[in-house]
Amino acid sequence: MWLREMDRSDKNKILLRAAGVIILAAFIAIILLFRVDFSSGKEEQVSRDFFAMDTVMNITVFGADDRTANSAIDGCVRLVGELEAELDVHDEGSEIYRLNQNGSGVLYGHAAECFELAYEYSMDPEIPFNAFLYPVTREWGFESESYDTPHDIPSEERLGELLLLTDPNDVRVEKLSDGGIEVTFEKAGMAVDPGGMAKGYACKLLASALKTDGIDSAIINLGGNVAVVGSHKDGSPFKIGIRDPEGGYFEAVEAIDTSVVTSGGYERYITGSDGKKYHHIIDPATGYPADSGLISATVICPDCVMADVLSTALFIMGEERAKEYREKHAGEFELVFK
Ligand code: AMP
Ligand code: MG
Repeated sequence: MWLREMDRSDKNKILLRAAGVIILAAFIAIILLFRVDFSSGKEEQVSRDFFAMDTVMNITVFGADDRTANSAIDGCVRLVGELEAELDVHDEGSEIYRLNQNGSGVLYGHAAECFELAYEYSMDPEIPFNAFLYPVTREWGFESESYDTPHDIPSEERLGELLLLTDPNDVRVEKLSDGGIEVTFEKAGMAVDPGGMAKGYACKLLASALKTDGIDSAIINLGGNVAVVGSHKDGSPFKIGIRDPEGGYFEAVEAIDTSVVTSGGYERYITGSDGKKYHHIIDPATGYPADSGLISATVICPDCVMADVLSTALFIMGEERAKEYREKHAGEFELVFK
């Protein structure tokens, strides 16, 4: 062990530094998570952080006794774990992984429901949401942990070839009598990635699970995806902060029984060997990161899945097209740009 070969003071210094970094990271995470709700007033609350789907998540339940709140949160943590095991594109045991490997498969339960929603939104000609862009996003390498180590970026020819494998019209979906759905990709190399709406789907399930467990006031924070159950116990709305990538929050929106979802290019990116940053939200028309001039798009709407899909899609569309879309769909959602 290399640690054993050092003298004691070096070892202590390293341990102290590591402990410092961990404490600082935990402190920042706690500040960020607790600042999600800007509402004033003290009320009884039970709050828990946990890590799933590559994200620090937090659930805070208001006005319930500790036992009820903790048992409801336990249920949510379990549910997210189950969902991740079904949807994770990297987990060899997941139904979605097997579908991508084999080019066909039968999905049940949440995997089936989530896939069907992803398919429907991908078929919507009004929005550039396409869950079948995975061959392209995989080629870019956004799954890498090293955001700042220079990566080779895909050539235009390669992206052109891969884009031919991303048409949702080349996907067959058949309902089976046992409740499952049979999915077949008609071209070899096609693959699905529900990542653009999976957290919205998780929010929807968790909000409904909390209500079933008798919770009528809670905030579910899955990274940039927030859903609130009910309001504060005194009836006042939750105030959800929208993150400014340069630090802090730039706006707080009032929320009762709704979701607030932000998509932004700053969340995940790679650095190209040309030194430029390339973010993870891809314009299906080009295969390149969307370049619409927006830093982020936030959608507020009671349907958590729709909010997640639209935040991704409207970020790609840019301010002008997104405003036109909102006018056409007046009353369905609210929009905040940065
Ligand atoms: P979000 O953070 O919800 O905006 O989703 C971003 C994630 O969705 C990316 O990390 C990709 O996995 C996936 N994605 C990227 N571009 C698209 C797109 N045009 N349509 C659907 N999903 C996408
Ligand atoms: Mg999204």
